[in-house]
Order: sequence, then C-alpha cells, then structure tokens
Amino acid sequence: MHEMSLAMHIVDLAASRAREEGAGRVSAIELEVGAMAGVMVEALEFCFEAAARNTVVEGAVLVSRLVEGLGTCLDCAASHPMRGVHETCPSCGGSLIHAEGGLELRLRSITIDE
Ligand SMILES: [Zn+2]
Repeated sequence: MHEMSLAMHIVDLAASRAREEGAGRVSAIELEVGAMAGVMVEALEFCFEAAARNTVVEGAVLVSRLVEGLGTCLDCAASHPMRGVHETCPSCGGSLIHAEGGLELRLRSITIDE
C-alpha cells in the first residue's frame, strides 16, 4: 500500500533526525501534500500511527498542509487552480493542462523534544 510505505519513510526520516540531534522523542511532523500528489491524507495519518509505534516517533502529531495544484492550459494559456490531474481548462474546456504545482509531497519540519 502506497500510504504505508510513505508513512514508514516519514517515520524513518524523523527517527534518524532525532538520533542526529541526540533527542529522545519526535513531537510533531509537518508535511506539505500537493492536491494532485495522489496521497490520501487520512490513510497516511492512519498508517503513520501504526508505523510510529514502538519508535521515538510514537505519539508525534502529523500535520498535513494541503498545497493547491496549479495548472496552465496549453490551448489558451490560462492558469488556474487544479484539484486533480484529469481536469479540463475552465476557460476553454481544453484538456491539455500542464501541471505546475500540487504534485509534491514534502517534509516541511520535524519538531524534536530535547
Ligand atoms: Zn484553456
């Protein structure tokens, strides 16, 4: 499952950051999730809890900030917000949209308890 491997990756990153800092626990993790990244945030949060169990990340709060997608129409050059990769242009109805944002999944910050 996609979200499970993502969650384990996030836990790994946070745990190794905590080790580098010589810290005992991770208290919060902030993510940026693109609207078109194809990530189900609720599923990710659920998997995160399971992946964090019995690690220094257990009990940490996972905060997901949604990043809205942005697309440019290749027919009329209009830019508009996008929620999915299969949207059509609201100006001309064209379906050739170049996605310029909202595809990312980024670890924004890790809060560590000293
Ligand atoms: Zn257009």
